[in-house]
Amino acid sequence: MLRRALPLAVLLLAAGCSSGPRRGLLSSRDVPPGWSLFNTDHYQVLTDGGPEEARATAERLEGILALYRRILPSRQELPRFPVRVFRTYDAYLSYGGEDGTAGCYDQSTGDLVLTRFVGLGGGDPMVRLPSPQEMTATAYHEAWHQYFHWYLDADADPPAWFDEGMADYFGQTRIVPADHAPEGAPDAPGGGKWIFGRPNHGWGDAIRAAIADGSALPLREFVHLPRGRYYDRPAVCYPQGWSLVHFLINSRDPRTHEVPDALVRALSAGADASKAVDEAFAGMDWGKLEREWRAYVEALR
Ligand SMILES: [Zn+2]
Repeated sequence: MLRRALPLAVLLLAAGCSSGPRRGLLSSRDVPPGWSLFNTDHYQVLTDGGPEEARATAERLEGILALYRRILPSRQELPRFPVRVFRTYDAYLSYGGEDGTAGCYDQSTGDLVLTRFVGLGGGDPMVRLPSPQEMTATAYHEAWHQYFHWYLDADADPPAWFDEGMADYFGQTRIVPADHAPEGAPDAPGGGKWIFGRPNHGWGDAIRAAIADGSALPLREFVHLPRGRYYDRPAVCYPQGWSLVHFLINSRDPRTHEVPDALVRALSAGADASKAVDEAFAGMDWGKLEREWRAYVEALR
């Protein structure tokens, strides 16, 4: 039993499940006793949390997938993505989830794996369980990896800062009533609207502190950081990746808005991570970019 608090910053550090045999999609006759299977157009959710959990998870994922497909439309026919939701944290860890995470995407099998944390902490008030909102953020985060890796090709290895930064940026996406949304916000399920770019206060503080103490890497170096080294320094790299994506999408400089599209185009054409980054940032004034990103992060509160 885990006997420590689980801050959100740790919960979202899902570097990936440990790889197991390909488990993939099931037919209804293969569902273990006590488990529920729910199919939608693009997801198959298997859970020991009951049929309502299966349905709610599948519908939540269909909602965010519709958004991802608007952002990155694909001409290929979508598969049905496999999802596992474990009621208890112990079962999640046994399946291959990493301790301290709320979900993961297994790149080798294509599985999206989540937990509801039942039983964690045994009532210990020192153990802070994640809120439903935080669990939804994790589902959105991992669904980004699942869709993006399928979109590129299961074997592609996109730059870690972009893969994780986009997952965190869209993990913070929320549905609000239509009359509370800004002009032009995209439609969300249930008649609401999607809103983006909410500040993640913990990570805003973390990246400002990392800039102040010099532990944040210069952007020119950061965008080429190999995935393994990114995951070696999660407390700095995740906030930096999230803040860089936030900046590229929302800054006032139109040149920065072109970077995500150019990066995805290069990756789709088969460029490796390093070459795609070089193409996406070609001709960039790194000194100016660094200054503008720092000013943006300072104001992101
Ligand atoms: Zn991730």
